[in-house]
This record gives sequence, C-alpha cells and structure tokens, in this order.
Amino acid sequence: MSAASSAIFISDLHLCPSRPSIARLFLDFLARQARQAEALYILGDLFDYWAGDDALDDPAEPFNATICAALKQLADSGTRVLFMAGNRDFLAGPGYAGASGAILLPEPQLASIAGAPTLLLHGDTLCTDDHAYQEFRAKVRTDAWRQAFLAQPLAERKARIEALRQQSEQEKSLKSATSMDVNAEAVAAALRSHGYPRIIHGHIHLPALHTHAIDGHLCQRWVLGDWYNGGSYLLCDASGCRAQALPPL
Ligand code: MN
Repeated sequence: MSAASSAIFISDLHLCPSRPSIARLFLDFLARQARQAEALYILGDLFDYWAGDDALDDPAEPFNATICAALKQLADSGTRVLFMAGNRDFLAGPGYAGASGAILLPEPQLASIAGAPTLLLHGDTLCTDDHAYQEFRAKVRTDAWRQAFLAQPLAERKARIEALRQQSEQEKSLKSATSMDVNAEAVAAALRSHGYPRIIHGHIHLPALHTHAIDGHLCQRWVLGDWYNGGSYLLCDASGCRAQALPPL
C-alpha cells in the first residue's frame, strides 16, 4: 500500500492538441491546486491517446512532451505524481514515467489515503456488461499485442488508433447506457476481494458519490468527472473526500 495523508485525484482529461483550452486549464491546475497536495493520482485517460513513449521525441508534435515536462515540474516541487493507465493511454511506459516524474501504478491499486483503505481503478474493468469491449481489452493488454503494436512505425500506430477510435464512437451510439456503466456485481466483487475499501475510479464520465451496502459494510464509491467542459478533481484527506470544480481560466 502506498500511503498519503492527503491526495487529489483526476482522470479522463483526454488531453490532446485539438483542445488547447483544457490543456491550459490542466497546466494551471498543476501550478496551483496540485502543488498544495501531497500526492496527485492520475487514474487514467490523462491523454486522449498514447501511441508509444517514442512519440515524446517527435519534433513535429511537442504536445505530449510539454504535458510531461509540466508533470515533472510538479514532481520536482515535492508533490508525488502517481499514474494509473486508462484505456486511452495504457501504452504509456517507462519513457513516459521518466519524462513526467510519475510513478506507474498497477491496476487495481489498494492505497491508504489519510488512513482510509482506498481501491483505485480506471473503471473500465467494472463495466463487465460490455462484452465486446472486455474482449478487446483482454487482447490489447497482452505483452504480445503490445510488442507487435509498438514495433510498427509511429505514423502507422497513430493511424490505427484513429481508426479504432472512429469504430468505437460508432459502436458507442449503438450500445445501451446500462452496458457502458459499471456492473453492480463487479463492484461488489471488487469490494469483497479488497476488504470493503472506499473506491475511486473514472472512465464512465458520470461524476458522483455512490454508497454500496455489501455484506453489512457501507462503502463509498467516488466517480471522477471528465475534463470536457471544464476541470474537476477529488480531494481526499482525514475528513473524507470532496469533489472540487476548477474555476474557468
Ligand atoms: Mn476510459
């Protein structure tokens, strides 16, 4: 278990060069609110996509390197930066970690946040009703797939990701809202197998506090918001967690 007396949590920023105002909001957040925290946990989908760590050396597209340099400044200032990959940026590896000063977390991760056992996930593993997605996820998370994909030239990888994204957008419009939400049994299983902790996750873009009564335990599940129409974060300390919205720049 990693321990922190206070921490802030973000996910689903989907940072990309085509949304410069959100990137500016994030850089401002790193320089202000994140500096006040002992630890910043990024719970996946920080980037809209991550084609491979070698993209950091692409002089034609300095966006990712700029974001990583800002994270590194935060880490150097004393705030621990912890990164759990999401379904968009699971190819972030040691090169990303080195450039950003982030500690890469396995998923799920049980952490002690201000003394409270807290299970951290991106959230997609809880969406077990989406069978097609879970099959896809299982395939792309194998070492064999990762090695084969990363062996392709960067331009080809970017084109492949773009094609996958368009396919996923089309499929999303056909899927029911229920199949894209978390599955109650998957949540219950995660709570049971980790000693009934608090849960924090993102991915579904429906920020809320849910309370689950499982086997006589009352467990909080905090869902983080995305950064599409503004920024937000969850602040957790000894008095509990609270969602915070960032003022627009
Ligand atoms: Mn996601």
